Amino acid sequence: MTWEEYEKKLEPFGISTKDKEFLKKVFVFSSKIHEGEKRLSGDDYISHPVAVSLKLAELKMDANTIASGLLHDAVERSPEALKQIRKQFGEEVAFLVDSVTKIAKIQAAGIDRALESVKKMFLALAEDVRVVVVKLADRAHNMETLEWLPKEKQERIARETLSLYASLAERLGMWNIKAQLEDLSMKFLYPKEYEMISSEVKKRAPERERYLKRILSIMEAELRKENIRNFEINYRAKHIYSIWQKLERYEGDWSRLSDLIALRVIVPDVKNCYSVLGIIHKLWRPVPGKFRDYIALPKPNGYQSLHTSVFTEPRVIVEFQIRTPDMHKEAETGIAAHWAYTEAGKPKKGFKAVGKKFNWIGQLQNWQKEFQKEKPTAEELLEALKIDFFKDRIFTLTPKGDVIDLPRGSTPLDFAYHIHSEIGNRASGSRVNGKLVPFTWELNSGDVVEIIMQKNKKPTPEWLAVVRTALAKNRIRKALRLSPKKSFITIEAKLVEARIYGKNRVGFIKDITSVFARSRVNIQNLISARSGNEEAPINLTFVARSKEELEKIIKKLQAVPGVKKVNYSLK
Ligand code: MN
Repeated sequence: MTWEEYEKKLEPFGISTKDKEFLKKVFVFSSKIHEGEKRLSGDDYISHPVAVSLKLAELKMDANTIASGLLHDAVERSPEALKQIRKQFGEEVAFLVDSVTKIAKIQAAGIDRALESVKKMFLALAEDVRVVVVKLADRAHNMETLEWLPKEKQERIARETLSLYASLAERLGMWNIKAQLEDLSMKFLYPKEYEMISSEVKKRAPERERYLKRILSIMEAELRKENIRNFEINYRAKHIYSIWQKLERYEGDWSRLSDLIALRVIVPDVKNCYSVLGIIHKLWRPVPGKFRDYIALPKPNGYQSLHTSVFTEPRVIVEFQIRTPDMHKEAETGIAAHWAYTEAGKPKKGFKAVGKKFNWIGQLQNWQKEFQKEKPTAEELLEALKIDFFKDRIFTLTPKGDVIDLPRGSTPLDFAYHIHSEIGNRASGSRVNGKLVPFTWELNSGDVVEIIMQKNKKPTPEWLAVVRTALAKNRIRKALRLSPKKSFITIEAKLVEARIYGKNRVGFIKDITSVFARSRVNIQNLISARSGNEEAPINLTFVARSKEELEKIIKKLQAVPGVKKVNYSLK
């Protein structure tokens, strides 16, 4: 690629002549370093730094950050490059490039690798948010070209992208990058679901779009009548991954997805936002409980807008988002928007530019200042941060060392279904850190989980009460051929933990287990009293399909000769 070709690609982003001169020097320098080097796709290597820098230009980052995009892989290629970069392009570019290079250097494998990259990203964030923005642009382009990598690598990278990079993009309010990262990861991790949803969207979107165009022209006429000037109305389809997540919540019922496409009204100021809201509610009846004022109460990632859904016809719901141009820009690019327009035309450094909106980054930086010298481990850092970033997630491992991240409270069956439906469906047992455990076992971060499979194994309805994630529930339901309406078991069924006290005589356990066998209820896990301790209770867990069934079983257990007391709790 020549400078002229690159310059042409920079055209849409309105870069000043002075910055262009600077970027030309950087481009020539980087091209020289990567000369002769190829990507796995067969393209010249420089195509990658160029693509990353263009993403940064699109985010309207400052020239130094765009330059860092061009140079982000230079030091890896040629270690002496950093000195030259500092001499030719200044301390700030050298700092950014060095920081990005350091994040990339992770030697560990498996769980340590995952924790290490989380730690490095957080520390970089505290130092200068732009480092992470470059990393996100780098990852976005690597995901776009992921098909060229070997299969095992694809999966690991896609998982890391979904659990770490997309979450970070979300926290930084970078909606566009987040959507890209999620859709690309989903395509590699859940290809069937991706195919299914995108073809369904393709089928449904045109009709929806035609309808929205009609609504749009009604809106336009009304806004003119009400003397609102300089407005812009557009619409945009939701991304595939977010539709999938919604569908999981709605148990696969497409008719409940009212917001495949949302209409956006952009007006010059906040006062007009509320006027537009009034006009919409005058035209159509609002859906109760759907109005959100994110202008008065912004989301933690800084997002601001008014949201409302209205019935444009009986049973037809349309979602509106109302915002100012500034809010719009921030909604698209998040934290990156704060570098776009600066007072003296000079980019502000680090998170100072971010203001009060990204409170958690401020917390992160204060914390880092205080504890820098103590060199905390990744776990200590995550523990101490108390920002709820990964509060509800755990990282678990396959025996091969791939990281599977799951919500807290997940079980081996969640783990199995997250890897593949077939692994879940054929699961007959599970080992955690080499030890056999029941399916009800609660996983922890760092656990190595192995699923034992049997060829003709099938899921049972009880599993629905054991698993925690919507993905696993959905896949079990599918395997059982339960329609969403018939899966009452998810609401009624409860996992029960029982403790049975009594004299542990010969045949005691057999009598207890036969209570379950006669009631056709499977015991999920049984820990019997240690021999020699007659007072220790028998602990067991089972799934009761209804309250009546639970009461019946407890009564029968109490009637077993020798039983003194039965305690139980619902999980
Ligand atoms: Mn790269």
